[in-house]
Amino acid sequence: MNVESVDCLFCKIVAGEIPAQKLYEDDACIAFADIHPQAPVHMLVIPRRHIGSLAHAERTDEPLLGHLLSVAAELAKRQQLAKGFRVVLNIGEQGGQTVDHLHLHVLGGRAMHWPPG
Ligand code: 5GP
Ligand code: ZN
Repeated sequence: MNVESVDCLFCKIVAGEIPAQKLYEDDACIAFADIHPQAPVHMLVIPRRHIGSLAHAERTDEPLLGHLLSVAAELAKRQQLAKGFRVVLNIGEQGGQTVDHLHLHVLGGRAMHWPPG
């Protein structure tokens, strides 16, 4: 569960086998531009290690989950989203998840609506 998943799109991006517009990387995570942006700024922050979704994360992943949020905030600052931004995790079929590798969407540059669809 916690090793690279051979059929996982985002593991392939981590491995450099599929290109992405990388915005940030460190030992634990990478961030890149979403290929179908839903806002003027739409970034994805993902752990390097394959975790299927937030529902697959374990208590021992708490430092990693906190790190992902911290990187999301740092990237929002770098993209000058001082007016606000949104961080989204889609989880599972009803949560609208389409790529089964945990990722944070960081959206900004326009007013967001509530409730989300
Ligand atoms: P989900 O729907 O699972 O929450 O989000 C998956 C996101 O990954 C979508 O916003 C989708 O546009 C993005 N995505 C899917 N395939 C690729 C890809 O090959 N490259 C990049 N950069 N983003 C992708
Ligand atoms: Zn993966």
